[in-house]
Amino acid sequence: MMNNTDTTSKSNFIRNIIDEDLRQGKHNGKVVTRFPPEPNGFLHIGHAKSICLNFGIAKDYAGGRCNLRFDDTNPEKESTEYVEAIKNDVHWLGFEWDGEVRFSSSYFEQLFDFAVELIEKGKAYVCSLTNEQMREYRGSLIKPGIDSPYRQRSIDENLDLFKRMRAGEFDDGAHVLRAKIDMSSPNLNMRDPILYRIRRVTHHRTGDKWCIYPMYDFTHCISDALEGITHSLCTLEFEDHRPLYDWVLDNISTPCHPQQIEFARLNLSHTITSKRKLKRLIDEGFVDGWDDPRLATISGLRRRGYTPVAIRKFCDNIGVTRSDGIVDTAMLVHSIREDLEINAPRAMCVLRPIKVVITNYPEAKEEKLTTQVHPDNPAMGQRILPFSREIYIDQDDFMEDPPAKFFRLAPGREVRLRNAYVIRCDEVVKDEQGKITELRCSYDDKTLGANPEGRKVKGVIHWVSVKHALPCEVRLYDQLFTEESPDSDDFLAHLNPQSVEILRNCQIEPSLSGAEPEQRFQFERLGYFCTDQYDSKPDKLVFNRTVGLRDSWAKAQSKKN
Ligand code: ATP
Ligand code: MG
Repeated sequence: MMNNTDTTSKSNFIRNIIDEDLRQGKHNGKVVTRFPPEPNGFLHIGHAKSICLNFGIAKDYAGGRCNLRFDDTNPEKESTEYVEAIKNDVHWLGFEWDGEVRFSSSYFEQLFDFAVELIEKGKAYVCSLTNEQMREYRGSLIKPGIDSPYRQRSIDENLDLFKRMRAGEFDDGAHVLRAKIDMSSPNLNMRDPILYRIRRVTHHRTGDKWCIYPMYDFTHCISDALEGITHSLCTLEFEDHRPLYDWVLDNISTPCHPQQIEFARLNLSHTITSKRKLKRLIDEGFVDGWDDPRLATISGLRRRGYTPVAIRKFCDNIGVTRSDGIVDTAMLVHSIREDLEINAPRAMCVLRPIKVVITNYPEAKEEKLTTQVHPDNPAMGQRILPFSREIYIDQDDFMEDPPAKFFRLAPGREVRLRNAYVIRCDEVVKDEQGKITELRCSYDDKTLGANPEGRKVKGVIHWVSVKHALPCEVRLYDQLFTEESPDSDDFLAHLNPQSVEILRNCQIEPSLSGAEPEQRFQFERLGYFCTDQYDSKPDKLVFNRTVGLRDSWAKAQSKKN
């Protein structure tokens, strides 16, 4: 399932709890977890944390299992498209769930029976207050709630009404089923929470079979129990729901009582990790879809060029704690850079080409220069760099009137072409508008793999041969948000207007001919790039820049130490 470059299974407080449970023989010595996404959007990097935690535990404990369960009790917002996308992402991240995919909706019949059981025990009742009244009766953090006048309905009346709710005799909102707990509890979740609502909405799996749907707090704990989950891991906002989780399981006849343990959500700087907000970005056209490479969705990161190994490594590095905080995106970037530094083949690509004619290089001549695919890994082989009289270099690597410290090409100055010769710029050719159209240079034929005689040439620039290069498109990405935590208020106000730049006239060395989608490279001096999963074709390559070369995270760390 995992490849051996992984370094998961760092200890954390949840693993410590599990270790202790196993020592005490709890849960019959088993460890069963689950990842329970709601299919109302694609997964994001926050979910990756939960996935690595849940599936990682199942993998590391002998006989451990992890279920994939769709928490599909909100039919308005859910769809099979999301179900498929989520399965795909979990697999891509390198995990396999135990047995079949599960759905809370598969348990609707059993959930209904458990609700009936609660009614029969006098622990649930049908309430007919309006939404507004219910809010008033509920009280607040400083004010206790008031019992609903319907709280005293008889068991028989409740049973009759609940069955008629299911049978579709009432309008949406006419009644709800509530747990009978304690309207004066300091925990608002315990003030007779709603268990069922009437909602005439078609469900993506059960169609129109049901017009009542169970609430999350009722569904989740029972689904966990039905699946024999031992440790139900969720994020901190559910801490206040734990008493209800336990109350439901304590009051129905299920022998299994999973243990809910909360951990801190992952918040990543300069990104949004709320499906609702992600959906807005997509629906309102600010990005191109759930897999837009600027989004911190799993599919967006994948399209951007992230590897499953890097994402797992990142999740491992951030750890699992109970304290909330914002993780610097630079740390995620560091994890992919570390992976690609070792594994990505090198190539030269000119993003904004300017033509260079090497006037003293014979017109008909061509050379096949060779160099390593990876400078530190000879096993990755050699690549051929055709050289000829006309080459492209990047506009950024030439300045007509440069400052003293500019070590690239300038009139009268010399520069080394990476893996090739030293050239000197003799003449700048311009069109009528004064735009530079061509540089006329001469080369020193004794400088292939050798220093020039009697002088030092500091700069090295990348290049491609005009005759041999392949045209390609390159997409450069920047942060989607200018604010560190755009999530905190009006996130749309913090959108970076320059989050993508598309360059359509780039030129790449011919060794990349036929590159498949999702191949990753280091373009020398420019960063790491990945062929686009959908738009790149062997005869029309499209590259997305994954990350630049400079590692601000590693730098900041080494300064600290
Ligand atoms: P969102 O706010 O994006 O809708 P959610 O919590 O509603 O997130 P779910 O599909 O219900 O999304 O989440 C599935 C699981 O992933 C849950 O156990 C949830 O706690 C966990 N999860 C979601 N977001 C994060 C996050 N940012 N960090 C860690 N775990 C998360
Ligand atoms: Mg949720």
